[in-house]
Amino acid sequence: MTEVIDCHTHIFPDHGAARIIEALQKEADNVPAYTDGTRQGLLDSMKKAGITASVQVPVATRPDQVETINNFAIKLNSPQIISFGAIHPQYLNFTREMDRLKTAGIKGVKFHPEYQDFFPDDPALFPLYEQLVALDLVAFFHAGRDIAFSGVHGTPAHFARLIKSFPKLKLVLAHMGGFQMWDEVKEELLGRNVYIDTSFSMDYMGKRTFNYFLEHHDCQRVLFGTDSPWTDQSAELNQLRGIVKDEDTLSKITFTNAKELLGMKP
Ligand SMILES: [Zn+2]
Repeated sequence: MTEVIDCHTHIFPDHGAARIIEALQKEADNVPAYTDGTRQGLLDSMKKAGITASVQVPVATRPDQVETINNFAIKLNSPQIISFGAIHPQYLNFTREMDRLKTAGIKGVKFHPEYQDFFPDDPALFPLYEQLVALDLVAFFHAGRDIAFSGVHGTPAHFARLIKSFPKLKLVLAHMGGFQMWDEVKEELLGRNVYIDTSFSMDYMGKRTFNYFLEHHDCQRVLFGTDSPWTDQSAELNQLRGIVKDEDTLSKITFTNAKELLGMKP
């Protein structure tokens, strides 16, 4: 069986999932949800799609949520559901919290420049980035526009400056490096040492631009991701298989690259 890792998914605690999904849908133009947002909902979706493991990336919209979300992430973390932790730029105890995540076997943390209202290259965050490098934790970012917001903090130009300041940071930029900012991604990010994920992008950028990105970015720096529950994992995987015809490239994008990034044993 071919193994597949979906590097971008979301799970919410069972008791709050229905409410959270509804609230997020309202903010984002009633985008449909393809699971019920629970762990079991994602596992069912993975089984249907033939996905071996999913990375779940939680967002703390307030600093006081960080520890609670990380308690949930640590409990959730397993070979099938690889949970990242949460961080918020205004959360003060990050040194202790990043150590706690590392000790618990968590592989990275999720940033969201729009929900968290910050610029990725803000020097105020440098001590945190330094610690992520030292602990070998992945920095996973929402990148580009977010349909729930009008302005953009996480632009390709800001990320390009972050890469320049922290060349050793393991950086993943969701949505092909910058949702709906494709021209700027071409200029600022393609060909640079940064991971981009395929989530929530193929339908928006079109096949031609998607292929251009694959041709101009290192295929070892592209990760299959769906942003489940906001897309259907089966449909996304099938769509990618329809676009990427080279088997070797496809297996890098859907499995090997993520496996290496996460330091998983063979
Ligand atoms: Zn997402």
